[in-house]
Amino acid sequence: MAPQLRGTTLRWSDTKALAEFVRARGLQQLVQVLTQRGHGDHPLLWGDEVEYMLISFDHTARRARVLFNAEELINDLRAMDEEANPGYPSRWHLEYASYMLEGIPAQPYGSSMAELTNVEQSMRVRRRDILARLRSNETICSLTTFPRLGCPGFSQPECVPKHRDGQSASLFLPDEAISYHPRFSTITRNIRERRGEKVVVNVPIFRDRNTPSPFIDQIPHGDEEAAIAMKADHIYMDATGFGLGNCCLQVTLQARNIEEARHIYDQLAPLCPIMMALSAAAPFYRGLVSDVDCRWSIACAASDDRTRQERGLEPLTTCKWRIPKSRYDSIDSFLSPGGAQFNDLELLKDEDVHLQLLDAGIDPLLAQHFAHLFIRDPLVLFCEKIHADDDENEAYHFECIQSTNWQTLRFKPPPPNTNIGWRIEFRPMDCVVQVQLTDFENAAYVVFVVLLTRVILSYDLNFLVPLSKVDQNIRKAQKRNAVLEEMFYFRKDIQAEVDTPPAEEVGILMSIDTIINGKVGVFQGLVPIVNSFLEDMEVDVETRCTISDYMELISKRASGELGTMAQRLRAFVSSHPDYAHDSVISERVNYDLMLRCDALARSRPHRHGVDPLHELSHGAFQTG
Ligand code: ADP
Ligand code: MG
Ligand code: MG
Ligand code: MG
Ligand code: MG
Ligand code: MG
Repeated sequence: MAPQLRGTTLRWSDTKALAEFVRARGLQQLVQVLTQRGHGDHPLLWGDEVEYMLISFDHTARRARVLFNAEELINDLRAMDEEANPGYPSRWHLEYASYMLEGIPAQPYGSSMAELTNVEQSMRVRRRDILARLRSNETICSLTTFPRLGCPGFSQPECVPKHRDGQSASLFLPDEAISYHPRFSTITRNIRERRGEKVVVNVPIFRDRNTPSPFIDQIPHGDEEAAIAMKADHIYMDATGFGLGNCCLQVTLQARNIEEARHIYDQLAPLCPIMMALSAAAPFYRGLVSDVDCRWSIACAASDDRTRQERGLEPLTTCKWRIPKSRYDSIDSFLSPGGAQFNDLELLKDEDVHLQLLDAGIDPLLAQHFAHLFIRDPLVLFCEKIHADDDENEAYHFECIQSTNWQTLRFKPPPPNTNIGWRIEFRPMDCVVQVQLTDFENAAYVVFVVLLTRVILSYDLNFLVPLSKVDQNIRKAQKRNAVLEEMFYFRKDIQAEVDTPPAEEVGILMSIDTIINGKVGVFQGLVPIVNSFLEDMEVDVETRCTISDYMELISKRASGELGTMAQRLRAFVSSHPDYAHDSVISERVNYDLMLRCDALARSRPHRHGVDPLHELSHGAFQTG
């Protein structure tokens, strides 16, 4: 196949100099879309994105390592399948890390109920096609984090981190871990340069019975910056790759028109923390057992390009404002008229952009949403694109801002010159729903999100609560075993017709079990609502059975009858004979865990009534 055009990216100083220009052009492109593409009547299309990591086993040394080979593999997949075969069902994308790839269905799924059963098969075909191109000691795994990412010798080939002059300047992650495509190394370097120092990720350590107290992380080279940045009783990480180098699962939904898209976006926001806790799958970082179950806060810190002034650590002299959150974080405002009264977070806006949007006749809720995204500088600019004068056909400058605002939800305008409508991306995985290990589970989470949007629209449900409560829920959702142990602020009365009480009284604290399965006199439960919707829908028997299996998984995860991926991973490590109860994941434990995960992901399709992760914590370490 023809070599891919990669382009030339700009350093931070040049990017910064062009930031206002990019915002101005991006704003023109945005206004064009907002004023011309609002209406129409688009079908309810949807699709998933699954990210995988490449793993190489050394069965003699009993080691599992990430394999820096994704680009070759993707080129291979594209040349052999996508390009040679127009009906090929999958598309492959490079991702942040050179050991990662992303697979999506070549065409989005349609709105019929039967399409809900296609997603698992599509995921299975994707997995099969990648596995067919790997050597016998290699595999792919849709695990959220590689347990020993950043430990000595964690990769194949083994590379040395350039902690003084690399793109990451990391003590742990070599630049070879970043994809060759310049977008990703540029994101890495420009985050660090804009911030003025390396990113800092401190994740609380899980305190096991032999974990030293205090736990002081081991820092190579007696590095001074690290010594200042790290905290006792925390796992320290210093590179964007520790966040963007994790795998996730995303769902994109197309709405009929912009108004419906705003409505769905808002209604999905309170569900983000619930899905985050339910899909928790990331307890291990840099070879250590942490006290969190999700990777969300790690990704936020690893992508945080705010300066010290913007973070409020120094008086504002050269920077414009304090910014409350990283550019990778939860959403800051609702978009629909019904959401307005629940917008109680500080919303920083680029006032120029805001006024111009209002002048162009854009609705105030949309104007403030986009003016908020425009407080960020572009991170990656390609020389070849900056001055291309083609606003009618492209939204390049707008996308420079939009695509590096990594929030829990993304409100996606129609691309110019396409018949694509307004879409909402549910970005759990970039964080919220994390990639689950098997295709059955991934499909179950995707289908659940899609069905929730169907019931929201069909029954006119209302999940809105003040956005500050959603943020509190997001903080709770990441804690160890949050699915069983935390209480979440959730709306009591979700029938939209009912008069809205004062914003601060619409919800109460509920367990995830109550939210998902319901509790008499308290809340109907999301799964019962979805089930009654399915009964109204006259779905064929096969579709109904498949969806029942998915709902059963979600329901049992919520009740605690089935463990989350995070719980199972912890149990595996904890019961491994080589684990010393000191929070350290050895090469041997890592190897056995990856081997077991691989066997699970390759195992026969899920059967009714069987826990998909059963084998993870049973007889787990006899292998290898
Ligand atoms: P990104 O990386 O920008 O999030 P991708 O192209 O990787 O986007 O993934 C987009 C997802 O959206 C895929 O699952 C794809 O099937 C789906 N999709 C594509 N077109 C539409 C559409 N018109 N409506 C809804 N989903 C769509
Ligand atoms: Mg994608
Ligand atoms: Mg993408
Ligand atoms: Mg991706
Ligand atoms: Mg995506
Ligand atoms: Mg500005």
